[in-house]
Amino acid sequence: MTQEAATAAEKKPNPIVPFMKLPEKYPDEPAYLWGVVCNNCGAKYLGHRTACGNCGSTGPFEETRFGDEGEIYSFAVVHQTVPGLEAPYVAAIVDLDDGVSVRANVYGLDISKPGPEWFGKRVKMFTEKVRVDREGNDIIAAKFKVTDGK
Ligand SMILES: [Zn+2]
Repeated sequence: MTQEAATAAEKKPNPIVPFMKLPEKYPDEPAYLWGVVCNNCGAKYLGHRTACGNCGSTGPFEETRFGDEGEIYSFAVVHQTVPGLEAPYVAAIVDLDDGVSVRANVYGLDISKPGPEWFGKRVKMFTEKVRVDREGNDIIAAKFKVTDGK
């Protein structure tokens, strides 16, 4: 590809994880997490699977779209990170209402006062550009913010 063609190529936002999809009209249409359901036992997974960890079935798996709400299952306040990332932040495992868990950062908590009341807090997904790749495409990450059930 010539330099000119590369510049002319349309830039496209890309999800940072393979189990998130950005619709054609993103960001007008929100990004979402997706995965598969085991047709044999109903177990759900983020992204593709070649075998079910619950029943051992090798498929077929049905692709499904997950909702954007859930609650904090577990968390850690991270005080040190790699250069270029801001700390402290809250790294959490979020149990989605649809029955899968996802590792993501959670915002909207008072980071100076972590406590057991954070477990089970209601959260909702949002997306944010976290960096730009070598081709100049935005890289989009899924994050969560506390909703307090609202
Ligand atoms: Zn299964």
